[in-house]
Amino acid sequence: MDEKSSWNSIGDELVKCPVDGCDHIGHIITKVHCRMAHNMTRGEVRKKYGMPTRLITKSLRQVKMEGARND
Ligand SMILES: [Zn+2]
Repeated sequence: MDEKSSWNSIGDELVKCPVDGCDHIGHIITKVHCRMAHNMTRGEVRKKYGMPTRLITKSLRQVKMEGARND
């Protein structure tokens, strides 16, 4: 099974937990997070919600800058 990399970010990316209502963002969605926060294994999370969403941290910074210009 080569699904390991999909739960990890690469370079400037972050990954967001795919579970509805969960805003956990990090460089990796850990097995421990799935177990502690959702009482599921990563396999169960993937079946139910799909893979983590990839985010580019550069664009997150741009969003923050645009927000800061709003005053
Ligand atoms: Zn989560």
